[in-house]
Amino acid sequence: MAELRKNEKDGITYYTAPQLEPYRDLAHGFFTRRGGVSGGVYDSLNFRFSSEDTQSNVLENHRRAGALLGADESKIVRTLQKHTDNILVIRGEYIPYDPSEPVDAIVTDVRGLCLTAYFADCQVVMLYDNKKKVCAIVHAGWRGVVNGIVKKTIQKMTDIFGCKAKDISAAVGPSICRRCFECDEDVPILLSQAYDRHMSEYIYKDGKKWHVDLKNITYVALTSSGISPINIDVSSLCPCCTTSEELWWSHRRHKEQRGVQGAMIMIK
Ligand SMILES: [Zn+2]
Repeated sequence: MAELRKNEKDGITYYTAPQLEPYRDLAHGFFTRRGGVSGGVYDSLNFRFSSEDTQSNVLENHRRAGALLGADESKIVRTLQKHTDNILVIRGEYIPYDPSEPVDAIVTDVRGLCLTAYFADCQVVMLYDNKKKVCAIVHAGWRGVVNGIVKKTIQKMTDIFGCKAKDISAAVGPSICRRCFECDEDVPILLSQAYDRHMSEYIYKDGKKWHVDLKNITYVALTSSGISPINIDVSSLCPCCTTSEELWWSHRRHKEQRGVQGAMIMIK
């Protein structure tokens, strides 16, 4: 397990996972705020359409980030994330799906499709099987963790594409840390119901509030799906408390006055 690596290219600051970097036919990036065209509270690489930022700014931000990975603008696959366990599977030709239908994970074996997810505290998990040439991107906030979307996405890779979990590499992007993820008792209760074992190891109480270690719960979801620990990178970065360079928007820290970061993965 290694820390993600910071990169600067074409004015864009982004992170890559050592786990995924060696694959020549894969491009990926967890983008920061830096390198886009938006202004004000959306300064500058805002991926969020549902904001007061203009659509043309957001599209240009997507285009720039995609271009950095070598993606054609028309091949950027966007979804409406709603903390569901809906998974979009794309095989063969890409037919743009109905964007009003919520989707929180995408799996494909189609070369040149640039799978996109958005985050501002939530986890983005990237998965890649280099043998079968299948990649996936998953948006998993605490609700996604409760509904098991990471495990379900790996299941799609194995059931539909014939992937073997031992051949899958995984990277978990910058996301909220256990100190910043303060919540009421409802979250630990839902998590304990969803995961019957060992949940107490990842939940603690500090004063009146509860804290949950989502990064480690996701790590366990990956390993219990059969992914080898040596094939997993988990970023320790937290958009909420990593404030030194103003690289991140955080839902907790900025409330609604903010943009969102994007993450992209593509088989070249
Ligand atoms: Zn934090």
